[in-house]
Amino acid sequence: MTSATVMKFGGTSVEDAAAFERVSNIVRLSEHAPPVVVVSAISGMTDALLALAVPDPHDRIRAFAGIGPLFERHREVARQLLSRAGATAVDRELGRAQGALAALAARIARDPASLPALQDEIVAYGEHLSATLLSAVLAARGLAARYVDARRCIVTDDFHPCAAPLFPDTRARSRTELLPLLDCGVIPVLGGFVAAAESGATTTLGRGGSDYSATLVGAALDASEIQIWTDVSGVLTADPRTVQGARTIPRLSYVEAAELAYFGAKVLHPRTMQPAMTHGIPVRICNSHAPDEAGTLVTAEADVWPETVKAIAHKRGITIVQVASARMLGAYGFMRALFDVFDRHHTAVDVVTTSEVSVSLSVEEGQALPQIVEELRRLGDVQVEPRRAIVCVVGEGLRRTPGIAARVFETIRDINVLLISQGASRVNLTFVVDEARAGDVVARLHAALLERD
Ligand code: ADP
Ligand code: ASP
Ligand code: MG
Repeated sequence: MTSATVMKFGGTSVEDAAAFERVSNIVRLSEHAPPVVVVSAISGMTDALLALAVPDPHDRIRAFAGIGPLFERHREVARQLLSRAGATAVDRELGRAQGALAALAARIARDPASLPALQDEIVAYGEHLSATLLSAVLAARGLAARYVDARRCIVTDDFHPCAAPLFPDTRARSRTELLPLLDCGVIPVLGGFVAAAESGATTTLGRGGSDYSATLVGAALDASEIQIWTDVSGVLTADPRTVQGARTIPRLSYVEAAELAYFGAKVLHPRTMQPAMTHGIPVRICNSHAPDEAGTLVTAEADVWPETVKAIAHKRGITIVQVASARMLGAYGFMRALFDVFDRHHTAVDVVTTSEVSVSLSVEEGQALPQIVEELRRLGDVQVEPRRAIVCVVGEGLRRTPGIAARVFETIRDINVLLISQGASRVNLTFVVDEARAGDVVARLHAALLERD
């Protein structure tokens, strides 16, 4: 274990000069040993860059106009927080990025088949620019900080736009790049989300992937702690945009946090917990707007609440796919053939239920779905139900407390529940409802399970 901590700052923690100033103060206070800093693109930047990665020239022109104000925001931060020479250097970097982005977008127009790879190249500029700017701001505040290209540290397969990390290589490269800097007292500043395939091609870890970058680098360095700094005070009992009374959960086990992340708690990328869990590194989720608040600490220890349920996550944009086939009856090999289809299209299945002759699965809506359905038709009759939502009730106490399912379904007894799953991790109860009812379901369950005195 090194004594290094990894500190990850999300897009809303670096949205303007005041936010960069707050981040500098947080990094400065951590400085008994230099941390590794991982930073997202400034808020709004990734969406704006994605809009650029399209074949239609008219859409691209519109997208370039949309990026202008975001580039200006970087300039404004530099003007406010850097010396004149520092601001000029940032301005030059932005100019270079603008030229490179125009060239990449033009290549998409010429060769639309290269879109997925070029989209990753384009979107990586968001993290490149924020990390370059943050390292300059930290240096201007007297901290020894240096920008490090995350592509030199995190190695993945070559699946665009949601690549899978190759951990042994990531570990070796991260250590080679980062440990010498830490040994000299230098703070490495990396963009999150961005990585590289073995070929050197730019890849990304899926939307929200900077959290995952932080735990990958933390695991690679055997860090003592990984901190995820965001715009809320830790993991809350529900999405605060849906439930006003949602409150901070002081402690979660890795398994609880992983379930919440996987089933829609946007505060953590779905795969964030895995490297931390494997290497036993504590993860702290903190609020960069209120750094004195305690936030949430995630460790291996299960802390069972007397009320049993700790949080409710939900994820909209779910489609249920049902495959019915008499071939399934008593036959083996059917399930493998079914899951092969989803595998080939890199599509994760969230909830699975089976009957004697049918299987129902929930998947996130995505471009691959029409093709998946087409291939599934070779296996049986396929029904598709779009516009659904997954709701997931989580708590270590679910492992051994009877009656939770009854309380949950009694609370929403007037609502049609489509798929139900309990028992896989034993800390969650997961089910699917109509998307339009999801907010109501979560609010009612929160009131019934988490707001009693
Ligand atoms: P960042 O830019 O720091 O990565 P995100 O927007 O990705 O931040 O994640 C933080 C947001 O996640 C919060 O502002 C909140 O709206 C949302 N969120 C959804 N569910 C939860 C939850 N259970 N706890 C905390 N935040 C949640
Ligand atoms: N900038 C990326 C996104 O918006 C990654 C991240 O913020 O974690 O998805
Ligand atoms: Mg995020």
